[in-house]
Amino acid sequence: MLRATRHGPINGTRLARAILGRPLYTVAVYLVEGLLIDSGPPHTAHQLVAWCRGQHVQQVVNTHHHEDHAGGDGPLQRELGLPVSAPAEAIPILANFPRLEPYRRFALGQPGDVTVRPLGEQVDTAHHCFQVIPTPGHSVDHVCLFEREQGWLFGGDLFIHERARYLRADEDVGTLISSLRRVLALQPRALFCAHAGLVEDPCRAIERKVAYWERLGEQARALREEGLQVRQITHRLLGREGWIDRVSLGHMSKINLVRSLLEYSGHG
Ligand SMILES: [Zn+2]
Repeated sequence: MLRATRHGPINGTRLARAILGRPLYTVAVYLVEGLLIDSGPPHTAHQLVAWCRGQHVQQVVNTHHHEDHAGGDGPLQRELGLPVSAPAEAIPILANFPRLEPYRRFALGQPGDVTVRPLGEQVDTAHHCFQVIPTPGHSVDHVCLFEREQGWLFGGDLFIHERARYLRADEDVGTLISSLRRVLALQPRALFCAHAGLVEDPCRAIERKVAYWERLGEQARALREEGLQVRQITHRLLGREGWIDRVSLGHMSKINLVRSLLEYSGHG
């Protein structure tokens, strides 16, 4: 399942694994002047290759190694002969991709091993220059691409949602907040997020996201001082865990967010 979007010169397509005609999970990739940013999950790689055939794609960049952002690299390289680049830390992971948990294999697919080129400090197209901005926190290798003249920020999984209530077990809120502040300082005028799509007025949205997490962190610390346990604090502030916690066996959960907020002691 594939849904195309267009924002000026930026083409996007939302890739989805559909079960009984309903999207199970969606992720967006973007194409600007021959540069494809991210390659979606393995399950939708053949659709992406078909979509790319009519689009004059010249190069592919991964924002990070996760299977829903780099899962199409192999087919794009093999079938279209496209050069693929990824952040340096992603390269050994992509070359020997770890076996995913069953729920991720089912929803997204297991990537094959690929050899890709290391990203430099910038990526050039005919008329644009994209700065590579290291933005760890969601994953250690995560980068954003920023086109200064246009104010475009390609955010990968840095933003996702203004009021994110779930965190992966391997994410770190303090590092995420530092990365959000780093891109805020660039004063982007449009944010292209892999999950939220086009975020207009991104500076306000990023400020609100940071403020939401910081407020949640203060509330969590106050409850801990009252003697509540992490599980009780999570329930009080964010309610019950959702289905994703059960399906992911705790890899993606609300308690991960509260635990990371409690560890995060920085206030700017
Ligand atoms: Zn990710």
